[in-house]
Amino acid sequence: MTNNVYPHLQKIIDESQRIVFFGGAGVSTESGIPDFRSQDGLYHKKYTYPPETILSHSFYVSHMDEFFRFYKENLIHPGVKPNSAHYALARLEAIGKLKAVITQNIDGLHQMAGSHTVYELHGSVHRNTCLSCKQVFPVETVLHAKEIPLCPCGNIIKPDVVLYEESLNQEVLSMATSAISTADTLIIGGTSLNVYPAASLIRYFKGSHLALINRDQTNVDEIANIVIRDPIGQVLGSLYIKK
Ligand code: ZN
Repeated sequence: MTNNVYPHLQKIIDESQRIVFFGGAGVSTESGIPDFRSQDGLYHKKYTYPPETILSHSFYVSHMDEFFRFYKENLIHPGVKPNSAHYALARLEAIGKLKAVITQNIDGLHQMAGSHTVYELHGSVHRNTCLSCKQVFPVETVLHAKEIPLCPCGNIIKPDVVLYEESLNQEVLSMATSAISTADTLIIGGTSLNVYPAASLIRYFKGSHLALINRDQTNVDEIANIVIRDPIGQVLGSLYIKK
């Protein structure tokens, strides 16, 4: 029996063997994580600088206290749970149809839902490394630090999150590129593809089906085989995922 809410997308999924999912902030909004880039004025009232400034490497170096205050209040979301989109993608991987999730999110929700091959382009709040002795700490260490999180060795613990002005992990980028270039179907969801390197990565796709699930218009709408504007949890959650 096939679910017919999104018959075109369902057909593509049924026929695909090497799906890659590329996602952004919109995938996590249904889990209650707001996109800090969507300017609602909230940050401007509470902070002296715009989020893009605070989350830059130079600001991190020069205003470390304020960086961590913002980071803890806005980038760490204790208690969040994966939504239907995360679980559907984990299920697609489990039955062998999905080869990789590439995400711009740093929340770790794909892994929490059960996905294994996840390329986190912008890092993760769940990995935090001492800059000196390289010991790795969980997110709680950063969250519960009074101000700047410090390692027992006395040095700073830095979240493995890619800040503005910092370069991406080349190994992650290379694996993501490779996954996209060998995919038969690429599903892009919850991203307007405006954040580097999203748009350039998409160019490596040579497969036959490009599906786009995003609330707003994107610059690949025209080349997509299918464009869906509904919430991504609703869309992926309604798919009938069988072997
Ligand atoms: Zn240390």
